Amino acid sequence: MDFELTEEQRLIRNVVREFAQGEIAPRAREIDETGEFPWEILKKMAELGLMGLPFPENYGGAGADTLSCLLAIEEIAAASGSVAITYNAHLSLGAVPIYMFGTEAQKQKWLVPLARGEGLGAFALTEPHSGSDSAAMKTRAEDRGDEWVLNGQKMWITSGSVARSFVVAAKTDPAAGVHGVSNFIVPADAPGLAVGKDEPKMGMKGSPTNQLYFQDCRLPKENLLGRLNEGFKQFMLVLDAARITISAMALGLGRAALEQSIKYAQEREAFGQPIAGFQSIQMKLADMATELEAARLLMFKAAVMKERGERITKIAAMAKVFATEAADRVCWQAIQIHGGMGYSRELPVERFYRDNRLTLIGDGTSEIQRLLIARHLLKEV
Ligand SMILES: Cc1cc2nc3c(=O)[nH]c(=O)nc-3n(C[C@H](O)[C@H](O)[C@H](O)COP(=O)(O)OP(=O)(O)OC[C@H]3O[C@@H](n4cnc5c(N)ncnc54)[C@H](O)[C@@H]3O)c2cc1C
Repeated sequence: MDFELTEEQRLIRNVVREFAQGEIAPRAREIDETGEFPWEILKKMAELGLMGLPFPENYGGAGADTLSCLLAIEEIAAASGSVAITYNAHLSLGAVPIYMFGTEAQKQKWLVPLARGEGLGAFALTEPHSGSDSAAMKTRAEDRGDEWVLNGQKMWITSGSVARSFVVAAKTDPAAGVHGVSNFIVPADAPGLAVGKDEPKMGMKGSPTNQLYFQDCRLPKENLLGRLNEGFKQFMLVLDAARITISAMALGLGRAALEQSIKYAQEREAFGQPIAGFQSIQMKLADMATELEAARLLMFKAAVMKERGERITKIAAMAKVFATEAADRVCWQAIQIHGGMGYSRELPVERFYRDNRLTLIGDGTSEIQRLLIARHLLKEV
């Protein structure tokens, strides 16, 4: 087993780390405080070729492998959770479904501009009354002969107010349950689509999250993504892969909290010595580092299995639930190590904690990840 990164993986990680620490980290606090959308940062990320990182060059991408993309997401998250979730939703939820299930014409029309960074992608599955229970969605797409007509409402859509295009799940055969769902590519300017206000949130404040309202929203027939009534299966596959990327976000936020804590523990003095001299602080730092290392290994394994084309539902759920909850504990301890300053908005650890909290909820809650793991275990025995 080889735990060394390839030269290309190291290069991508180093380039993104330099960019994230040089251009994103210095602005992260301001982005969190103003909630302003960081368009200039995303423009620079497009110039670096990051917005299409995993896609082949003929679709405007850079052809990077799974692990390289995870390393890039981790580095961006270590600088700003808001930029990381915007980037991650764009790649893993907005663009990947088109790459995985789109026709050649759809890829040219919708994927290429996303990969080139000419606009952001987003994914609309959740509704006011259906989150974990996504099969209970009410949004409907009716076949009106020469077009599709969508009616319904989506909720908690990352980049709702800034996206160029959405992949939207809707019922096409309501009586057929999970076998009656299809996905559609919906441009942000589709007639009949309205976007709600930016939701006020605990963290990820520079990432707008919105409701979408579809009222007789008309779409050309060619905007159906993949086969009719196979939408549920499609977004389950998309979410499997996306869950590994959430583990990368949590790793980035947790790592940043640990690095900040190591620095602070060596600088801050109490009882005549740096607090790093106290064993109780050392134990905390050791546990934080060990948990993040274990999370990293799960993420690596999930990445290797995905790259080999293996089924990743169980390992991706394990990587997500472990990394996100490990990062939650790490950020919690980071605040404790910082004492009163941990609770202050002057230092970034409280932001890491708030931003990371989302990773235990989005793309399937911790409870749903455990259900998926258990289902696989019980089927396996
Ligand atoms: C900031 C943010 C960004 C988001 N971005 C997007 C996006 O871009 N696109 C999108 O489609 N969605 C997005 N979401 C929605 C997110 O995926 C859902 O919030 C999440 O899946 C949980 O759904 P819910 O909020 O309806 O909670 P619910 O499903 O109502 O769950 C409430 C609680 O019940 C638990 N629960 C539910 N069912 C079970 C069960 N069977 N067994 C045990 N426990 C259960 C849950 O784990 C949770 O603790 C986003 C959410 C947030 C907060």
